Amino acid sequence: MSLPIKRISTDFDGTLFAEFASPPISERLQALLGTFQDRGAQWAINTGRDKSGIMEGLERADLAIEPDYLVLVEREIHPHGDSEFTGLEEWNLACSRAHAELFARVNAELPRISAWVSARFDARLYEDDYSPLCLNTANDGDMDAIQEFLEDYSQSIPGLAVVRNGVYARLSHSAYNKGTALGELTCRLGLTSAQVFAAGDHMNDLPMLSRTYARFLAAPGNAVEKVKEVVRRQES
Ligand SMILES: [Mg+2]
Repeated sequence: MSLPIKRISTDFDGTLFAEFASPPISERLQALLGTFQDRGAQWAINTGRDKSGIMEGLERADLAIEPDYLVLVEREIHPHGDSEFTGLEEWNLACSRAHAELFARVNAELPRISAWVSARFDARLYEDDYSPLCLNTANDGDMDAIQEFLEDYSQSIPGLAVVRNGVYARLSHSAYNKGTALGELTCRLGLTSAQVFAAGDHMNDLPMLSRTYARFLAAPGNAVEKVKEVVRRQES
C-alpha cells in the first residue's frame, strides 16, 4: 500500500532535537523518518536556525539519516543536492528582496520601537543578517507584552510580521514563513497539502501547523499550549 504522506516537515529544536538528551534525536525517531524516506516520502527540517546553526545541530545529533530539504530562518529553502544543501535561488532571492524592501520601510521607526521596549523591559535588542530588530527577554511574560506591542505596530506596515520563539522574537515578512516555504516545496513536488505531515512545538511553527499546508498535524508533548490548541482544533 502506498503511503498517504509524501512530504514530512519537522521543526528542529524541541520537536526533533532535545539539547540535553543523548542522543539528541532519538534513534527510534530517526528509524521512523528513515522508513518514511525509504517508502518515498521526502523530509524537510523547517527551522528558525540559520545554516551554520542547523549544521552544528545535525553534527551533534550524529544522524543516521539525512533530510531532503532544509528551510532555514523559517523562510529560506535549501534542497539537498549531490553532497550538500544549496539554496533554491529563485525563492531565496525573492525572499531577500521582499525583506530588504520591507525593512527599508521599517527602519525609520526602529529607534521609537527600541525606546519603547527599553523603557519597560530588561530586553536585549540587536540586529542580525535576517532582521533589523531581534529581541531576547528574561521571561515569557515580558515577551508576551512586547509581542503584543510589535503586532499592534505591524498592523500599520503591510507585510510586516513578528516571529516569536519563546523569549526570542524578530521581525519578518508575512509572505515568507514556515508555512509558505512548506507550501512552495509541496507545490514544486507536484503534491497537495493532503499528502503533507507537519510537526512543531512553538509559536514560529504556527504558520505551517495549518491545514492550508498540511493535512496531518502534530505537536510533541513539550509543545507550548497555544500550539497544542491550534493542532487539536484542526483535528477531524
Ligand atoms: Mg521548536
